[in-house]
Amino acid sequence: MSILSVLNPKGGSGKTTISTNLARSLHERGHTVLIVDSDPQGSARDWHAASEDNPIELVALDRPNNVKTLTSMAANYDYVVIDGAAKLEDMIAACIKVSDFVLIPVQPSPYDIWAASDLVDFIKARQEVTDGSPRAGFVVSRIVEGTRLGSDVKTALDDYALPVCDTTITQRQVYPQTAAEGLTVFDADNAKARAETTALTDEILAMLT
Ligand code: ADP
Ligand code: MG
Repeated sequence: MSILSVLNPKGGSGKTTISTNLARSLHERGHTVLIVDSDPQGSARDWHAASEDNPIELVALDRPNNVKTLTSMAANYDYVVIDGAAKLEDMIAACIKVSDFVLIPVQPSPYDIWAASDLVDFIKARQEVTDGSPRAGFVVSRIVEGTRLGSDVKTALDDYALPVCDTTITQRQVYPQTAAEGLTVFDADNAKARAETTALTDEILAMLT
């Protein structure tokens, strides 16, 4: 059992999009997966409710105290994917404490990357008292197809001294289109989106071991 959190207090960084697609990607590999919606906005809940036969189970957790119960719930699954809240420090802190891995999606702009600094500080402080848990890494999300990461973005990420996934998640219509139906890129005819989601999943699993 592993708990993976997708966290960034900044809205719009792609947390829900990545959580749902990552969960489905793990399910495609034959793993049992639970998505935890920790955001009172409830986007993952809306996604889940939009399809009648979603193969992924979902629970909603709105109170930081309830996050503690997750560890016993998680024992029934191979992976738990927590879709992070926006601007709720207690909730994010509680998620970091129970996580084996924290994925931080950031849009390719130095402003967005700098905005993750409190989150990174919190993760590093936790790693220091736990001998390195949770592991954590960035993924650049919503990058325009065909563009490369600017040196300003690379420098801003390097400053944090946390791993950065080689895989980037591209800005593609297929993400919101499938989300609207409660689906994922694994239900769509878009090989590139599936390939990047699969590659991201591979990288996360490699960082977990
Ligand atoms: P967060 O959960 O961090 O607030 P979301 O996953 O909800 O971010 O994404 C914010 C908005 O951007 C949503 O409308 C979503 O559909 C869209 N979006 C997220 N990732 C992508 C992507 N890779 N390509 C296109 N649209 C995206
Ligand atoms: Mg969200």
